[in-house]
Amino acid sequence: MSRTGARVERLPLARFTTLGVGGEAEVWFTGSHEQLAEAMEQPYRILGGGSNLVISDQGVPERVIRLSGPLAERDLNPDPALSTPDEIVTGWVGGGVPLPGLVRALQKLGLSNLEGTVGIPGQVGGSVWMNAGTRFGEMFDGLHTIEIVTPQGTRQVTPADLDWGYRRSGIPLNHIVSRVRLKLRLSTPEAVLARMEAADQARKGQPKNKTPGCAFKNPTLPGGEKVSAGKLIDEAGLKGTRVGNALIAPEHGNFIVNLGGATAADVHALLRVIRERVGVPMELEYELWPTDPGLSAPAGSE
Ligand SMILES: Cc1cc2nc3c(=O)[nH]c(=O)nc-3n(C[C@H](O)[C@H](O)[C@H](O)COP(=O)(O)OP(=O)(O)OC[C@H]3O[C@@H](n4cnc5c(N)ncnc54)[C@H](O)[C@@H]3O)c2cc1C
Repeated sequence: MSRTGARVERLPLARFTTLGVGGEAEVWFTGSHEQLAEAMEQPYRILGGGSNLVISDQGVPERVIRLSGPLAERDLNPDPALSTPDEIVTGWVGGGVPLPGLVRALQKLGLSNLEGTVGIPGQVGGSVWMNAGTRFGEMFDGLHTIEIVTPQGTRQVTPADLDWGYRRSGIPLNHIVSRVRLKLRLSTPEAVLARMEAADQARKGQPKNKTPGCAFKNPTLPGGEKVSAGKLIDEAGLKGTRVGNALIAPEHGNFIVNLGGATAADVHALLRVIRERVGVPMELEYELWPTDPGLSAPAGSE
């Protein structure tokens, strides 16, 4: 236990990622602002659902902060002071809350605005930080207030205060989204479910194995045309390419999957093969811990 009562343990990070890859680090489970402040006294990283990360086999030297306890709980009751008959503003939803369970709970309550994010396996904080979404909707469709914690202190902002856009929140790297208040529209469970099913349908054909989702962003060709990264990888004949226990999914070229026992080195090798063989400059969608300048810059904020 730390001075302020945070649980601190040296753990393999693989268990916190959807790819199932990553070496050890000192993990800080922080459930209060006081514990967050203590964790941030030394160099740190913030880990959410680990669904957009490839973490090195050697782990990382920094403290790895995970939101837990009250910062992983949700209060979906309307705040009477902020809600109107048409628009509900909820109580606080912790940054450590898993997004899939939140989306399901909102559907049952007939509350709309975040159903377009169905199927995204991250946590609320990580998904706000990168404004995760699909063509059916994104996180910033449903945000009222965002609480951000840094070593300098805590502030509450609204989306209007941030320079957010496509898959970016404008929140700098390592500024921690500790909690948010959601802004939702009153609908019906049936109507929200119908929109979720449409968004779900678009995911058919994605592999079911362990993966961090799409490897590359869809590139824009010199003429301005946007092309599908998956299609380019497929046309380069790379589907089914295997290095160690990592595989370019036969179902969808833009997904790298862990067949069991894959290493970060296997995944990096596949990313390099794709980069070399596709012949069109492609920007990485995954975030690499630590950053590999040869492969990527972090996504999310610019
Ligand atoms: C099968 C699959 C499908 C996916 N589909 C989509 C999709 O349709 N659309 C989409 O946008 N993404 C998709 N993703 C990618 C990923 O799920 C999202 O980007 C998700 O929002 C990442 O959230 P996370 O909590 O897992 O973040 P992590 O992967 O843990 O971290 C990603 C970044 O966010 C930062 N971060 C994490 N938590 C916080 C916090 N509380 N405060 C500040 N920064 C934080 C991390 O430091 C890191 O820089 C998919 C991934 C998978 C595996």
